[in-house]
Formats: sequence, structure tokens, C-alpha cells
Amino acid sequence: MNNFTLTAPTDLPGATQSAARPGASFIAGGTTVLDFWKLGAYPMQSVVDLSGLPLKGIQAGPGNLKLGALETMNAVGEHPDVQAHWPVVSQSLLLAASPQIRNMGTMGGNLLQRPRSVTYRNPDPKRQDGPSRFDAIFGVTPSSRAPHPSDLAVALMALDASVRIQNAAGAERVLKLSDFYKLPGPDLRFDTLAPGDLITALEATVPFAGRSAYIKIRDRASYQFAVVSAAAVLDLDGSTIREARLAAGGVGTIPWRLPKIEQALRGQPATPEAFVQALTGLGDGAVTHPFNQFKVALLHQTVLRALLAAKAIA
Ligand SMILES: Cc1cc2nc3c(=O)[nH]c(=O)nc-3n(C[C@H](O)[C@H](O)[C@H](O)COP(=O)(O)OP(=O)(O)OC[C@H]3O[C@@H](n4cnc5c(N)ncnc54)[C@H](O)[C@@H]3O)c2cc1C
Repeated sequence: MNNFTLTAPTDLPGATQSAARPGASFIAGGTTVLDFWKLGAYPMQSVVDLSGLPLKGIQAGPGNLKLGALETMNAVGEHPDVQAHWPVVSQSLLLAASPQIRNMGTMGGNLLQRPRSVTYRNPDPKRQDGPSRFDAIFGVTPSSRAPHPSDLAVALMALDASVRIQNAAGAERVLKLSDFYKLPGPDLRFDTLAPGDLITALEATVPFAGRSAYIKIRDRASYQFAVVSAAAVLDLDGSTIREARLAAGGVGTIPWRLPKIEQALRGQPATPEAFVQALTGLGDGAVTHPFNQFKVALLHQTVLRALLAAKAIA
């Protein structure tokens, strides 16, 4: 039996200060926390329930997105404005998990969910996964080769989105997703949050986000994490690519942006041939073994499909 105390604050200072104490943890939808806690892999002496905080709200106009940290995956994914103006966000959410989990899982919790690999699930910190076909090919460290599991984070990475954070001293900061995540070290943490740091909202400003798509390849058609996924956001000037934003999932220990491919696409015609040409070198720097080597070719096809799907939006 793991005993813990439960607090249910109704304001942000109450939540951040309670969570800053040693052994404390936030719980939002609980779909990651409770799983790992039952396995003994998420030790916590006190739990700070976020459900009473005023952290809801969906603003999804053309060009501007703001999502409250406690909005659920289904509420955001099914919102008509998100579907119309931010398709990559909607698609990434609705292709994730199951309807039941999406009704519980929240924006903040989704970004901080843990990989469901042995390294993370086993309470023995020395336990490591054996080589597997799921292993990441980018951002592999001596501590972890588990791919980051969030679909939403891949879409947000492609949108160059930001995370709004309030700390226990009441100060607010806004972090780009690229600064929010870091490669996992010995503590297996892949985020840069300090104890008590509370995500209050996710934000993005992308005038051309309406032309975006998320493609997810998985072992079965529902209820599965990505083997490989890709998010593409395109800004076209007639038939020429003015700007391209790309990120990939299932391949990195954190959501993986593809800046070299973005650079190669700028100024090119938005044709399948030009897409294929720009994808040359996509696998540069990949760390593979015989089980996961297929991910390089699969990533190529997945990014190509995401680009074609984004381009096809009228
Ligand atoms: C069977 C199964 C299949 C799944 N498939 C997918 C999938 O295909 N794609 C996918 O993306 N996800 C998938 N998931 C994961 C699921 O989406 C996440 O568990 C969920 O999004 C986590 O949200 P939550 O609110 O329940 O987080 P919680 O479990 O409540 O919290 C997760 C972590 O985030 C922290 N946290 C939560 N909110 C905040 C906040 N506002 N500020 C700071 N820290 C916070 C908690 O302290 C904890 O460390 C799957 C899960 C299961 C069980």
C-alpha cells in the first residue's frame, strides 16, 4: 500500500506551493500518474489535484491558439475552431489513445506523460530496455532510448508552440517547446520544469496553421502509440513553399523537429518531387540497430505523406 496525502487547491498559488514540497506531484487526468504509481514507478507522498483550478479555455482563431492546461484531449481535438484553423493539433489528439483516455487526459499532462517502456515503468532505476523496434533513433542518451510518447507534442513542436508556466513564487514565464524539453539524463527527466512549476496554458501563433496535417503510423488502427509520426505545416506563395515546419514522433527521445528539411523546402515548388528531394538526408545522425533501422525509411514516407496532406488542404 502506498500512502499519500491529497490536497485539492482552488487557486494557483495554493497548487504551486503545495507541489514545490519534496515528494509532491500534480495530478490532472491521472491517466499517466495512476498507471505508474500502481507499478511503484511514481513515488509520491502528497498529490496535488489540479481539477479545481481555473485552467480551462479554448481559443483557436486563425493564427492564434491558446489552450488551458486542464482542457481534455477530446474537448480540444473535437473543437470546431481547432479542426478548422489548427488541423494538425486536432488530428494529433484524435489519433491518440482511446476515447475514454482522451476524456480524462489533459493538455498539460499529455506533454509530461512518461514513455511506457521498461526503463520508465520498472521501479528499479538500473533496469534498461533491451534493444527494441520501438527505440528512438534520435536524441538517444546513455540513460534512455525510449521514444517520447506524446502525439500532441509533435504537432506543437512543428508549430513552434510555447508553454505558459507559473512557479511557486508566483512568477510566470513562457517557454518555447524546444526549451521545455531536454534530452533525458540519469534521472530520466525530459522536461526543464522545477518543483512546483505549473503549466497553465499552451500557446501558438502561426498565421498559416490552417494548412497543416498529422500522420501517425502505428501497429493497429486505434489505441496505439506511434511507431513513427509526422506533423507538417506549410505556408505557400502560389505553388512555392514560403515556409515549412516539420516535426516527427516515435523517432526521438523528445519530440523531434526537422530544421534541415524545413530549410531544404523553403523556396522550392510544392510538388511531390521537390518534397522527396528535400527529404534527402532525413536519416543523417540517426542511431540505429537492426531492430529499429526500418524507422529511417518509415520516417521518410511518413513525413512525405504529412507534406502531401498539408499541401492538399485548399
Ligand atoms: C493505453 C494508453 C494508450 C495511450 N495512447 C496514447 C497515444 O497514442 N498518444 C498519446 O499522445 N498519448 C497516449 N496515451 C497517454 C495519455 O494521452 C496521457 O496519459 C494523458 O494525456 C496524460 O494526461 P493526464 O491529464 O491524465 O496526466 P496525469 O497523469 O494527471 O499527469 C501526467 C504528468 O503530468 C504532470 N502534470 C499534469 N498536469 C500538469 C500541469 N498543468 N502542470 C505541470 N505538470 C502537470 C503530472 O504531475 C504528471 O507528472 C495513452 C495512455 C494509455 C493509458
